[in-house]
Amino acid sequence: MIILGIESSCDETGIALYDQEQGLLAHALHSQIDMHAEYGGVVPELASRDHVRRTLPLIQRVLDEAKLTLADIGGIAYTQGPGLAGALLVGTSIAESLAFTLNVPTVGVHHLEGHLLAPLLEANPPAFPFVALLVSGGHTQLMRVGGIGDYTLLGDTLDDAAGEAFDKTAKLLGLSYPGGPAVSRLADLGTPGRFKLPRPMLNSGDLNFSFSGLKTAVLTLVNDHSDADGILDEQTKADIALEFQEAVTEVLTAKCMAALRETGLDQLVVSGGVGANRQLREKLNRATKRRLCHVHYPRLEFCTDNGAMIAFAGAMRMQHETAGDHGFSVRPRWDLASLQRPAASA
Ligand code: ATP
Ligand code: FE
Ligand code: MG
Repeated sequence: MIILGIESSCDETGIALYDQEQGLLAHALHSQIDMHAEYGGVVPELASRDHVRRTLPLIQRVLDEAKLTLADIGGIAYTQGPGLAGALLVGTSIAESLAFTLNVPTVGVHHLEGHLLAPLLEANPPAFPFVALLVSGGHTQLMRVGGIGDYTLLGDTLDDAAGEAFDKTAKLLGLSYPGGPAVSRLADLGTPGRFKLPRPMLNSGDLNFSFSGLKTAVLTLVNDHSDADGILDEQTKADIALEFQEAVTEVLTAKCMAALRETGLDQLVVSGGVGANRQLREKLNRATKRRLCHVHYPRLEFCTDNGAMIAFAGAMRMQHETAGDHGFSVRPRWDLASLQRPAASA
C-alpha cells in the first residue's frame, strides 16, 4: 500500500509517498525559514497560512515525481501533534478531507515518533531494541525503543532543548535563525580553548539535561567582551560559538554513552535537527566505536522536519488501523511515552 505523509507541525510543509513494499517513492519540502527569519522565530499564524498555500501543490509534486495519481494512494498519515495547533490543523484537515474523498484510511502520527523512526528509512537500519537520542528544536530526550510504540523515557531536559539553546545562542551572537547551522558554521572559525563554558549536568548521575544555564553563561561572555557600543568582534563570536558547541555536544555524547551502558544495549539512534550537527556526529562516532556500539542517523535532510518520516511512521502503523469517520482533532501537546504498540503486534 502507498501511504501519503503530511507534516505541518511547525514551519516546514513536508510531503512524501512511502510504499510499504518498495520504500520511499518521493518526498518534497517547503521550509518557511526565510519567511520567519525577520521575526527571529516562528510566527504561528503566518506558519498556518503558509501550510494552506503549500500543501496541495506539494502533494501534486510528489505524485508527479512518483508518476502516480491520487487514486494510487492507499492511506494517509499526518502529523497530529505535538506542535503549533493552527499549523497541525491545516495538515490534519487536508489529510482527513482527502482521505474522505478517496475513501482510504488515515493515521494520526506523533511527530516525535516520526523523528525517532527516521533513521529506519536508511540502508542497514538498526533492529529493535535501541537507545534513541531525540535532539530537536523542542525536545532533548533519551528513550529506550523496544519496537514501534514501545518507548520508555530514560532522560529529558529540565529546561531548554538543545536546539533551542543553539537558537538562543545564535541570537545572542547576532546570527540568523535557525541558529543551529549558523552557530556550527561560525564555530569552524573558532579558536579551541580560548573560553571555557560549563558542561551542565555532565556528572548529575542521571540521564537528564539542562541547557538554559549555558545560554546565560554565553550572555555573560558576550557582555564581558563587547565594546562600549555593544559590538563583539568576529573572532570572539567564533570562539564563543565553538566553545558553546563543544559544551552541548560533549554533554549529549556522554549521556548517550551512559544510556547505552545503563540499558545494556549496543545500538544508538540519533534524530531531530541537532542530529545534523557535524561536531556531535564526530563525537558520537568516536565514542560508540570505542565501546563497540553502532550509531545510526537519518540522512541530513531527514534530521529536521520532513514528510518522509511521517509517511514512514504512518506506514508502520497503517497495517493495523481501519478507516475512521474522518472526524479529527489535533494534539498540540502529546507525550511520546503514552503511545501504544499497534494493536496486531501488541
Ligand atoms: P520538535 O521536533 O521538537 O517539535 P522542531 O521540529 O522545531 O522541534 P527540528 O526541525 O527537528 O525541530 O530541528 C530544528 C532544530 O535543529 C533547530 O533548533 C535548529 O537550530 C537545530 N539544528 C539544525 N541543524 C543544526 C546543526 N547543524 N547543528 C545544531 N543544531 C541544528
Ligand atoms: Fe521536529
Ligand atoms: Mg523546523
